[in-house]
Amino acid sequence: MDNARAVVTARGAARWRGGHPWIYRSDVRGAPDAPAGAVRVEEANGRRVGMALWSPTSQISLRMLTREQRSIDAAFWRERIERAVAYRALLAPDADAYRMVHAEADGLPSLVVDRYGDYLSVQLLSAGLEAYREEILAALVDAVRPKGVVARNDVPVRAHEELPREVEVLHGEVPSVIEVREGAVRYLVELREGQKTGAFLDQRENRRLAAALSRGRALDCFSYHGSFALHLATGAREVVAVDSSAPALARGQENARLNGFDNVRALEANAFDYLRAGDDAGERWDVIVVDPPAFAKDRRSLDAALRGYKELNLRAMRMLEPGGHLLTFSCSHHVDDESFVAMLTSAATDSGRPMRLLRRLGQAPDHPAVLQIPESSYLKGALLEAA
Ligand code: SAH
Repeated sequence: MDNARAVVTARGAARWRGGHPWIYRSDVRGAPDAPAGAVRVEEANGRRVGMALWSPTSQISLRMLTREQRSIDAAFWRERIERAVAYRALLAPDADAYRMVHAEADGLPSLVVDRYGDYLSVQLLSAGLEAYREEILAALVDAVRPKGVVARNDVPVRAHEELPREVEVLHGEVPSVIEVREGAVRYLVELREGQKTGAFLDQRENRRLAAALSRGRALDCFSYHGSFALHLATGAREVVAVDSSAPALARGQENARLNGFDNVRALEANAFDYLRAGDDAGERWDVIVVDPPAFAKDRRSLDAALRGYKELNLRAMRMLEPGGHLLTFSCSHHVDDESFVAMLTSAATDSGRPMRLLRRLGQAPDHPAVLQIPESSYLKGALLEAA
């Protein structure tokens, strides 16, 4: 299938040569007469651009695989996957749950693979990629010999590709719950039902920082299954974990028991209401974590999102003990570094407290960003200290 040809505009080709791997439909002049898969990409003058994954129904028509003219065969996928695995071996994350393949940033566009101990959770996010499911699976199995591989293809973006949304076991057996370790804590992950591929692995390094700072009273807002709360519990006297999802909190409680912690209290609430009520009642905390879901799903919702982030951070800042620490995040890629810091500055100003910016935080290095792909640098964060 990789003999089919796509003709792209000079603008599309230039974007690609500059390092952004996507070509949109508006830059495709001659669409390949081929089903989803790999195609050769050329400019109208016949100049070769490279090989790409072709998605017939998506706005993102072409995703760059390589600038070389080469066959996209089993050896290609094997090479790329082995390279991604080798990079994680170099990183040696102090955990057995980490991202093994981070899509475009690993030269494997639209492929996500998270490793949870002996199991892999994968997402095939484009029609072009789906065409290579067997080759990719074989390469993954050979690279790490997992006991099981589950596909968490139950994600909305698959709809743009006219692909079914489903959860499937692709290899071996996958238990519904497995235990993983992250630094000093252990936690249970629901591989088939949990959010994302089961857990939020991009925060691993920031959770270690939370553990280092933990003391006194600590609050984890948007706690999911307690990942930050567990790390806070290693040093705090009392930890409150707030989330709106009862099943996530139930797992959080189980995770606390698994680690022998009796200082974690789970609270089902809207974090906005909880923070407002706490502030109004004059509550005080030594450490607060604010890790909300992406509020800005698109550019239009950016202003409303920033108002939401500001409200959360303002309340949190007001409740810090003198010298208290706030670890705060946004995972919307539409919120860029500048607007994130501007939002925090505005919250700090309204709080009336000098806030020291101790460190800028971001996604863990197993989730690398690519400079030319602004969408890939999605997690913004800061460690702040109240005067
Ligand atoms: N901190 C977590 C990840 C948080 S993901 C970790 O490190 O693993 C965002 C979480 O926010 C989800 O668990 C979701 O259930 C929860 N959530 C979404 N809206 C909420 C709201 N208004 N109040 C409280 N929790 C909310």
